[in-house]
Amino acid sequence: MINIAIDGPSGAGKSTVAKLIAAKLGITYLDTGAMYRACALYAVRNGVSVSDEDAVEKLLPNINISFSGEGDGKKVLLNGEDVSSAIREHSVSKAASDISKLRCVRDFLVAQQRKIAAETDVVLDGRDITSNVLPHAKYKFFLTASADVRAERRYKELIARGAQVEYDKIKADIIDRDKNDSSRAYAPLVLTPDSTLIDSGDMSAEEVADFIISRVNADI
Ligand code: C5P
Repeated sequence: MINIAIDGPSGAGKSTVAKLIAAKLGITYLDTGAMYRACALYAVRNGVSVSDEDAVEKLLPNINISFSGEGDGKKVLLNGEDVSSAIREHSVSKAASDISKLRCVRDFLVAQQRKIAAETDVVLDGRDITSNVLPHAKYKFFLTASADVRAERRYKELIARGAQVEYDKIKADIIDRDKNDSSRAYAPLVLTPDSTLIDSGDMSAEEVADFIISRVNADI
């Protein structure tokens, strides 16, 4: 199986790059962040605090996350409902970052991610793919960029979607989420020594995807 693992902080362009790689290589893209977002949305909708581990753990058996379609039309389904837009709401981002600290949630989702990776040629992006989900993956990358570059990208993305947001708030939230994701006790975002570090600040998504593909092709 081809497993390409990409980690990095929010807004580094991981999902855009991963989608391009999947399309170019004809393999599956697994957006692991969407899985944390879907769990957070389910908890919020059911009035459960995302920091209440006992209550969240009780919800997990009722959460079924799946994906349908391919490429840009790929949908995230939560118990069969298309939540692709709902999970991108700004408020869900923070809830996802908070719920992802819970070990029960991580264990629940990581098991599903490993199963998919064992059965499918896949490119996965997230925070703990290289360190925890697939530490033995052959292709491991850490994609990053400065907080300014990442905040600007996220701002433009949200504005293009019609959201009313302020740049300063987006940047503060990105820094806050970085801190949250890198400092959590269980499976934090880390740069593993065997991952290739890529700064996407001066590179287009296409260039980053082609760089990663050249690494994979060099081996095939
Ligand atoms: O990548 P995205 O911003 O959609 O992820 C939402 C949140 O889910 C992140 O801020 C992070 O806290 C969490 N996450 C994680 N591990 C992953 C993917 C996402 O903890 N593999």
